[in-house]
Amino acid sequence: MSLIGKILNPKKQSVVMLIQTMPAQWKMQDRITANDLGSGKFLLNFMNEDDLQWVLRQGPFHYNFCMFVLVRWEPVVHDNYPWIIPFWVEITGIPLHLWTIKNLRNIGGRLGHIDTVELLAGRMLIDVDTRKLITFTRKIASPGGEEVSIQIHYDKLFKHCSSCGMLTHEVAYCPMKFPVGKDRVERTGVFERVQLPIVTTSRQALLRDQKPYDRYETFSRSDRYGKGSRRSISPQRK
Ligand SMILES: [Zn+2]
Repeated sequence: MSLIGKILNPKKQSVVMLIQTMPAQWKMQDRITANDLGSGKFLLNFMNEDDLQWVLRQGPFHYNFCMFVLVRWEPVVHDNYPWIIPFWVEITGIPLHLWTIKNLRNIGGRLGHIDTVELLAGRMLIDVDTRKLITFTRKIASPGGEEVSIQIHYDKLFKHCSSCGMLTHEVAYCPMKFPVGKDRVERTGVFERVQLPIVTTSRQALLRDQKPYDRYETFSRSDRYGKGSRRSISPQRK
């Protein structure tokens, strides 16, 4: 019985180090064997189901302050597999009269597959796809038409890009913010305050790149940028 894992930030994480460190951290170094599968992936092999389940309960997982994926091995043939991290997600900012299981599901469903909803705690267990951007705020329209900002908190989320929301890099290496590559990063960083065109260009690139996800976002954002508005999330709609 095995778990398959994948590092998300190769600049900060090494598989060789991770598969030595994590079993020791779990005090199972003599009960887990590990294989480096290449391409940032690895296998952890367990001697019994209890150990495997115990480790799974420790997630979401991070190594060197960056997240990594770790799920039960399944015979999936896909270059990117595995990519799901189940996060406990807490939503704040929803007005009390809109605080329903349907609305929570509506919001959570846009973040990923919903595993569990705990209405009273205002939290959901969501399978987050690490190939996509992580969303931290969203605007929803109440039945009365007023717009409300909600905040989305991911439990045990460590470093991620503060610019685009990906888990695969930190902001200094953001390909959307600094599309020219690492060598130019530092210099671009120094000049970004005075060189307005660079900032404008990268913002537009960001918007363009986010388009597939914007579709599901707020009407206000769509309106603001003149894109076809698919009013989403409006809680009165199913
Ligand atoms: Zn980024």
